[in-house]
Amino acid sequence: MRRLEFPFDPDERKQRIRDYIEKTTRRTVSLVITDNSTTMLSIKDTGRALMLRLHRIFLEAGIDVLNELSDYIKGRKGRTPLIRNFINSNTHKVKEKPPRRVNLRTEGRYYNLLDIYRSVNDTYFGGRVSASITWGSRSPRRSARKRTLGSYTGRGSLIRISPVLDSGKVPRYFLEYIVYHEMLHADMGIRAGKGRRIIHSREFRRRERLFKHYDRAIAWEKKWW
Ligand SMILES: [Zn+2]
Repeated sequence: MRRLEFPFDPDERKQRIRDYIEKTTRRTVSLVITDNSTTMLSIKDTGRALMLRLHRIFLEAGIDVLNELSDYIKGRKGRTPLIRNFINSNTHKVKEKPPRRVNLRTEGRYYNLLDIYRSVNDTYFGGRVSASITWGSRSPRRSARKRTLGSYTGRGSLIRISPVLDSGKVPRYFLEYIVYHEMLHADMGIRAGKGRRIIHSREFRRRERLFKHYDRAIAWEKKWW
C-alpha cells in the first residue's frame, strides 16, 4: 500500500514549531504567524511567556534555523546568520506587488523620484533593492499634521516620499538621503529585538552613515525642519 502524501499543514507545522521552541528554551511560548513582511520576526518577553511573532515563511524553516532562534531567545547568541540567510533566500515569497489602488507617481515638479531611486540603488545597494517608490499624497492637512518625510511599508514593498520635498528649496542630496533611508529599510528587512521592535538598529544607523552626504543632510534637516 502506498502512503498518501499529506499536504503541508500550516496549523500542524505551527504547533510543532511552538512545541519545539518551548522544549528547547523551557519557556511558555505564544506563537503568532503573521503576514507582516516589515517585521519578519519579533520576540517579546512578558516574564511569564514569550510572545513570538513569525512571518509565514518560518513555517518552512528547517531545524537549524529553529535552533538558532532558540539560542537567540536564550541569549546565547547575538548574531543570527542562519535566520538572516533564511529570510533573504525566502524574500521572493514575501514580496508582493503594491495594491492596485496605489498609483505610483514618480515625476515631480522638480525631482524625478525614479531617477533618484535608481542612482541610489546603483551607488549603495548594487542595484539589489526592489521596492516601488512614489510621491505621497498632497493632502495639505495630512502633511501639516505629520512631518513624515518618507516611509516604507513592507507589504507591497512601497516607499512613499513626502511631496513637500519636491521643491527647488530642497537640495538634491537631502532628497537622496531620505530615499536612501527608506531603501535601507527595504534592504534590511529583519528587525528582531528583545522586548521591543528595533526599527533603527545599531546596524541600521551604521549603514545610514555610509551615505556620502550624511552630515550635510542632517545639518540641513536641522536647519529647515
Ligand atoms: Zn526609518
